[in-house]
Amino acid sequence: MAIAMIYLDHNASAPLRPEAAQAVMRLLDPALGNPSSVHGPGRAARKVLDEARRDVAAGLGVHPGRVVFTSGGTEANAWALWGVAQVRGFRGRLLISAVEHPSVRAPAQALAGLGMEVVRCPVDGQGLVDPDTLESLLTAETVLVALMHANNETGVIQPVAEVARRCRARGVPLLVDAVQSFGKIPLSPDALGAALVSLSAHKLGGPKGVGALVCDNILDLAPLVSGGGQERGRRSGTENLLGIAGFAAVVAPALAQLDAESARLRELRDALEVRLLEELPALVVLGASAPRLPNTSLLAIPGVEGETLLMALDLAGCAASAGSACSSGRTTPSPVLEAMGVDPVLARGALRVSLGWNTSAADVERFSRVLLETVRRLHSLASPVG
Ligand code: PLP
Repeated sequence: MAIAMIYLDHNASAPLRPEAAQAVMRLLDPALGNPSSVHGPGRAARKVLDEARRDVAAGLGVHPGRVVFTSGGTEANAWALWGVAQVRGFRGRLLISAVEHPSVRAPAQALAGLGMEVVRCPVDGQGLVDPDTLESLLTAETVLVALMHANNETGVIQPVAEVARRCRARGVPLLVDAVQSFGKIPLSPDALGAALVSLSAHKLGGPKGVGALVCDNILDLAPLVSGGGQERGRRSGTENLLGIAGFAAVVAPALAQLDAESARLRELRDALEVRLLEELPALVVLGASAPRLPNTSLLAIPGVEGETLLMALDLAGCAASAGSACSSGRTTPSPVLEAMGVDPVLARGALRVSLGWNTSAADVERFSRVLLETVRRLHSLASPVG
């Protein structure tokens, strides 16, 4: 019998939870119409949409009117940046942390090309933004600050509530990319005081290709996608009903198990790191001194290439990621690790391990065995003599 793959790449995409699959399958129904139509089939679809919005909003403790569904985290982030920039006539300063996801960095870069000033707030060696440094970069011209809640590569959790407090005092809206934190650690847009919060369903076991931007309704935000005026004119296009229902279906289960799951995953993750450090004393756990997501470990293994290690692990039945999944296939060091000042040679050996809802203690045990064997083999190939 074939041995099942050990999947430790939840930060790239968590396996679909059964609740999402059931919700999607229930909706594979030809009787559902367009949620914007007034007839019965349309109203049936509208009911599904309204209930899904209510469930996602309930998980965040916000009014449903603040949840606008998108095609995922990338669109939510792009919309936040382009939407604010357009309202501000493509003028002013965008202040983003140096460790933002490419879905924030790339639109910022594009807006810089249109003449906006883009300033990157540096991070320390653990990948943390210092609120004082960030505040010193806030000017009267600053139109938006983007600071992610938790980093996809390192799992490092930023001091977003403190930064939000300072942004609010200056009247500057804050975008919090909560794609990696939602469902893994407590998230309350109101407690954070963020004007915009981006989410993605597939990081917590929902379907891929659906997410949301949680908007403060007093913030003026131009639509990114205009047309038929769906989502109260904020995001046009017939809603991805199946995806949205699948997203909503995983919110309550993920949040109900959040405390127990984060304790369980933290224990597994910490035990993995301890075991690997015992066997490979030169190993570095990046961001280990900062607050981190309980499921994430970014391991830098001297003397191996992350991509080579990844392929060898894949052949041995283990899925992980070299740095960020979004940047896999690329051999240049990750901009996140560069911003943290990690030695580029060490950064090339970075392996991201991310656990989740279906990870068992036996999975982690087998993974650590396979990883150690693989690293030893790669080390011996690199230095065949002695
Ligand atoms: N933001 C962060 C922090 C992410 O990790 C990702 C995905 O890796 C995204 C945004 C993009 O989300 P999506 O895959 O839904 O477009």
